Amino acid sequence: MICLNKGLDFFGKAERERVLAKERSDLWDRAHSWHPFTQMKEYLGLPPLHIEKAKGSWLFDAEGNHYLDTNASVWTNAHGHNDPELNAALEEQLAKVAHSTYLGLSHPVGAELGARLSEIAPDGLERVTFSDNGSNAVEIALKQSFQYWQSVGRPEKRLVVGFENGYHGDTFGTMSVGGSSGFHGRFADWSFEARKVAPPVCEELNGEVSFEDEASSLAKLERVLAEEGSRVASVILEPWIQGPAGMRLQPKGFLKKVETLCCQYEVHLILDEVFVGFGRTGSLLVCAEEGVRPDFLCLAKGLTAGYLPLAATLTTSEVFEAFLGDFDSGKAFYHGHTFTGNPLAAAVALKSLEKLERLIESGKLDQTIAKFGEGVAGLAADANARSARQRGMAAAIDLYPGGDETNAWPLNERVGMRVCVAGRENGLLLRPLMDSILLVPPLTISERELDFLFDNLKLTIDKTLRS
Ligand code: PMP
Repeated sequence: MICLNKGLDFFGKAERERVLAKERSDLWDRAHSWHPFTQMKEYLGLPPLHIEKAKGSWLFDAEGNHYLDTNASVWTNAHGHNDPELNAALEEQLAKVAHSTYLGLSHPVGAELGARLSEIAPDGLERVTFSDNGSNAVEIALKQSFQYWQSVGRPEKRLVVGFENGYHGDTFGTMSVGGSSGFHGRFADWSFEARKVAPPVCEELNGEVSFEDEASSLAKLERVLAEEGSRVASVILEPWIQGPAGMRLQPKGFLKKVETLCCQYEVHLILDEVFVGFGRTGSLLVCAEEGVRPDFLCLAKGLTAGYLPLAATLTTSEVFEAFLGDFDSGKAFYHGHTFTGNPLAAAVALKSLEKLERLIESGKLDQTIAKFGEGVAGLAADANARSARQRGMAAAIDLYPGGDETNAWPLNERVGMRVCVAGRENGLLLRPLMDSILLVPPLTISERELDFLFDNLKLTIDKTLRS
């Protein structure tokens, strides 16, 4: 049972309750929570931080301390927290129905969202399968692609070609086609066969491209497609940015060339826009920006602007029609989740789309991106112990010892994590990837908040590296 602090008698009642509530929350968390992507031994040794509420770009803990949400709550938040219009859309839907299944049944907000997503996607992506997270959006694309090839009499097409360092989620299918050995290597024995190609490289900061090379990656992709021939079902790619790999950028235009190869070798193109979709790079969708029409488009994260879990997999009528038949044909798509297409999430997604279109059309998002780019570049130029990449509202700042970019601290020094923990003292909630600091703020972060972010990040990095 919980042991509550006994020495609080001199506090007023409200203050006493607040302190006790905080203690309870901490004890429960320490005793029962198992946090994802977290070494719990390390977590249990760190000062606890429980976020109680949020407004705009800020998160508040139980003591009223506030922190700038520099990671948009795992890359989801678009319009800030506690947004009045999104709240109103949610409440309006709540008064109607919180959940009703999408399995063989529909609801008005789900139907409308499906239509809106096909409208913003490149022509031809007319069918939408909802789910509830990015991994599932990708699983669905993989399974629909496999089943399509079976249905059209080409069951030999079962191999997926992915990219090294790619990340598509943590389920077995998505681990199989991803290239994130640090996260998933230990599960390789249970994964299915997939070929991996080295992705192209691009160094970009504040709109300036300093290096790019896509030729060798394209050549390798073509070689694999030619070698494997009719065995290949699909190519899967995170267009423009491999976010979870540390914001590894691809040259613009690479995507179009991948699309051309996919058409030439008759394989499906699956685009995972779970991270880059919905304004993160300045437009609603990267594929639309590049004039590419994939066979499958996977969306999640920013779809509900960081409010609720919802994902979508878009595909063509051609794929959809291969699943039609009499009941005993067994051609139905047997994949669905209990909360697939949840109406509350769909209502928020519709309102968020409307707001995003306004944000983009007004030019405001481009201005914010320009200011963000200047800030990242300034931080990188400031000392020789760091370098940076940035496109849109996504950036990585790599820290390394001394002036040698190829050098690294021993893993257990946890320099990136130490910077992030120290950032709390300076009002920043940061998240590292090893010794890189990833910055993915809400799309509506203000100029003043960006100044606050870069001033305090510089302070935090300098102080941590000095110690
Ligand atoms: N694809 C990409 C590109 C992602 O960034 C992520 C999550 N970081 C996923 C898929 C998986 O999404 P989820 O965590 O919602 O399953």
